This record gives sequence, structure tokens and C-alpha cells, in this order.
Amino acid sequence: MSSPTITTTDDLAARAAAALDACGVDAALRTTPGGGHAVRTPITGGAIATVDATRLPAPGPAVTHAAEVFATWRATPAPVRGRLVKRLGELLNTHRADLGALVTLEAGKIPSESDGEVQEMIDVCDLAVGLSRQLHGRTMASERPGHRLSETWQPLGPVAVITAFNFPVAVWAWNTALALVCGDPVVWKPSERTPLTALASCALLARAADDVGAPAGLVQVVLGGAETGRALVDDVRIPLVSATGSTAMGRLVAPRVAARFGRTILELGGNNAAVVTPSADLDLAVEAATFAAAGTAGQRCTTLRRLIVHEDVADAVVDGIAARFAQLPIGDPFAQGTLVGPLIDGTSEERVHDAIARSLADGGTLVSGGTRRLQDAAPDAHYLEPALVTMPAQTAVVREETFGPLLTVLRYRDLDEAIALHNDVPQGLSSGIFTRDQAEAERFLSAEGADCGIVNVNAGTSGAEIGGAFGGEKETGGGRECGSDAWKGYMRRMTSTVNYSGRVALAQDVEFGG
Ligand code: NAD
Repeated sequence: MSSPTITTTDDLAARAAAALDACGVDAALRTTPGGGHAVRTPITGGAIATVDATRLPAPGPAVTHAAEVFATWRATPAPVRGRLVKRLGELLNTHRADLGALVTLEAGKIPSESDGEVQEMIDVCDLAVGLSRQLHGRTMASERPGHRLSETWQPLGPVAVITAFNFPVAVWAWNTALALVCGDPVVWKPSERTPLTALASCALLARAADDVGAPAGLVQVVLGGAETGRALVDDVRIPLVSATGSTAMGRLVAPRVAARFGRTILELGGNNAAVVTPSADLDLAVEAATFAAAGTAGQRCTTLRRLIVHEDVADAVVDGIAARFAQLPIGDPFAQGTLVGPLIDGTSEERVHDAIARSLADGGTLVSGGTRRLQDAAPDAHYLEPALVTMPAQTAVVREETFGPLLTVLRYRDLDEAIALHNDVPQGLSSGIFTRDQAEAERFLSAEGADCGIVNVNAGTSGAEIGGAFGGEKETGGGRECGSDAWKGYMRRMTSTVNYSGRVALAQDVEFGG
């Protein structure tokens, strides 16, 4: 099924302008008679806006301002800092539809997913407001009489947040809501492909700051590609770089930040798998796998890319998924009923075709999908049927992240083999097992089980809640964001000894004369 028509680029541009106006983005930023940064929508491939990047700060001056504002913000009590994030959450709620429309326009997500992304921003604001009264340290027993030993958490400094195109605003919010309550200003380099959502979010934050009397410029957007990112990465005034994107990007960023003894939170590529055991509820597994693999056109870091299925149920699972894939309406995400929107660009489409070709060369079978759609209606856009491939072995192509709608099925005989296959990839983000056997589920969740940062039972790999720490191991980068104690990544740990005994007492009973 396809949506027969595609909204025109002019209509999409008008929609973008209306949403930007509603969010309070300065019209001067979009007045670019001499050119500017062209923003394309994946819905048609056409340009829907231009941004005058010269009106935005360059990385150096942005960091200078962030360092200045840090001096004020770190001295502001954390619960007062929380008021800013609370107000931001309220404004996000008011402008949910505007921001959601911009996410669809720039990233091509269907509105339900775009609105979900904005909801995620609101959720993390709620979490951060609560945290602003709970940045708890602790007191430890001192070995010395008349001494008190404690640990407290202090603001760290300006944080650089570098984000990917596929979660253009949620990932910024994960970082920013926490950073702000922790006392850190943010310099944000969004993906060069999604600057409009960034400008809109930043305008709402500026309005929130104005409303609660917080300093201006606590969050600044800098626009550009890798070079702009590198300027932030190399700036010694930035103690923390939180970078989300491909493993290739993280490989460049991590050593540069380490070389200056900075800190990173890296959220990089995933190659997520789920195991389907013979005891699984197969209808549930097929339904969950369909969303996890084809939702967001396969462009989530947590997208299900590998399904490791017991040989006794493999045919039924493959048939079930092929049938579900065939029913997915593909097309203009704004059209009623669409479930699969466009890929971000032609390079992404080529990568999927290339991965399919390599899989077939390795002995795989293309069960269904992989065909380009809507070429006549939108020749410059890239709509693709989700592809389902079965493979006799986990060859090199399966061990790579192909960032698009391509699901590979592998068969297994026993759980040891399934877990070995599951873990035998360089990435370690999200995983799942579908089973009604508790022993199998516990094994998968144990130290000998899945090696990922996120491990689910009877749930797909994508669609995490903000209450848990989010992130993955191995080439996914090891970073953690959002809930649990991820806030500690944005703070400086301070261990303090207070001597109220009136005499010098050294630890470990050390004597030094006197
Ligand atoms: P990308 O790596 O092309 O770009 C990500 C960001 O990094 C962009 O802002 C880009 O300008 C910047 N960048 C690129 N090179 C840089 C450099 N040398 N120095 C500093 N900044 C640099 O990724 P993308 O195509 O936008 O997004 C897709 C990728 O992101 C996928 O691999 C996906 O798995 C990953 N991703 C991971 C997570 C996660 O939480 N683990 C979340 C979203 C996306």
C-alpha cells in the first residue's frame, strides 16, 4: 500500500514557516537573500527553508559566552535552576504540534512518532525538575576521630551537545534538561540536516529563561557540519562533550576529547538483535519486531536489525513479518495512515541496496521488500519498502549497522548459539528476547547473556522510556543519558574531609613527627 500523493514542497515550506513563527524563531534568521544554509525535507527532497548561519554564534564566541554564563548559573541553587526546566516543559507542551511538525518536516517521521519525540522532551523535563531537588551526595564514615567525610556533586561547566538527524530534538532535551539542573550551560551543534527543530527548541528555551528570569544564552545553537563539531570537541573550556551519531563520528571525537582530558558521553551506532525462542508468543514477537524494524523507516539507533530465530519457529516468524511488512503504508508521513516515511537521503537508500546486494552475495535470500517507492510522485525523495533478508550465517555485512529498513533473520538451534550470535557484533546498544520460559529470559539477562546496555524481554529493541539510563556498550560508545543516575555525568564529584577535632590526624595512622 502507498499513499498516492505527496504534499508539495511549497506547502511543506509554508508549514515549516508557520511552526517556526509559532515557536518564536526570529524571522531574520530565515531571511537569506544572499544564500544561507538550505534545509531540505526528506518528504520531497526539496528545500523548505534557508537559515542565515552568520546570525548564529561561531563555536568560539559561543563557548566564551557559555563560560561567562556558567559563573552565574553554577551559583544559582539547583531547585531554582529547575524552574527554568519546568517552564521549558510547559512551553514544549504548548508547542507540541509545532515542534512535532518540524520533526516530521526535517526527519520524515510520521506525526505519531514526532509527537512521541516531543513527549519524550517533556518527560525528561519532568524528570530533571524532580532531580533538581535530588542531586544527592552522601556521607561516609571517616576512619579518623572528629572528622566528617562526604561526597557532593558540583556543576561541571559548559557542555557541548552534538546531535544526529534522526532524533533531532529528544536527544538534545535528554542532555539539556539534565545539564541545566546540574548547573551547566549548553552549546548545541544539531545535525546540519535538522537545524529548524534546533532553532525552534532554542527559541522556546530562551522564552522560558525570560519568563523565569534565568540568564540569556544558557543554550546556544551553533550551525555547521563536522568542522563546527570539531571546534567544540577541541575547546578546552568544554569539560564534557556529549556526542550522538555514527560510530565513525565517535571514533574521531573520542580521542580528541581524551587528548585534552575532557569527558565524553558517546551515543553511537547500534546493530540491535532480538532472539525468538520456540516458547515465544509468536504473534507478539512478529508485531513487536515489525515496529522495531520498520518504524522510523529503520532510522533509529535502536532499530531492530537482526532477528535470531529458533529453527522450529523460523518459517512462521519470517512469513509473519513478510506479511506485516507488505501491509505497511509507505509514503508522505503527513498523509493519514502512513506508517513508513522516507529515508533521510539518497546515500541512505544506496547503503540499504548495497547491504542487500552484499547479503545476497553471501548466500542470503531477499524474502520481501527493498524496492524504491513513489519515484514518480517524489523523484528527489527516497521511500523504500522495508526489506526482509534471511542469512545462512552472520557475515561481515550483518555485523555492520545499515541505517535503514533492513531486517536480517538468522536461525539458531540452542540458546548458547543464539546468545553467541547476538553478541558477535561490534555494537552493543539494545536487544531483546521473546520467550515464555523464565529460565531463558533470566539467562539472557544474566552476566552470560546479552552484552548490550539495554536488554528487553518480550519487548522490541526500540522505544525506551526516559526513566532508565539510555546507552550502549562496545562501539556504541559506553555513554549513558536520561534517567537513573545519568545526571552524574554532567557534574563534578567532590570528596571532602572536614576536621573538627582540633588536631592533625593523618589517614592510615600515618605519623609525621610532631
Ligand atoms: P553522523 O555521525 O553523520 O552525525 C552526527 C552528528 O555528528 C552531526 O551533528 C554531525 O555534524 C556531527 N559530526 C560528524 N562528524 C563530526 C566530527 N568529526 N566532529 C564533531 N562532530 C561531527 O550521524 P547521523 O547520520 O546524523 O545519525 C545516524 C547515526 O547516529 C546512526 O549511526 C545512529 O545509530 C546514531 N545514533 C545513535 C544514537 C544513540 O543514542 N546511540 C541516537 C541517535 C542516532
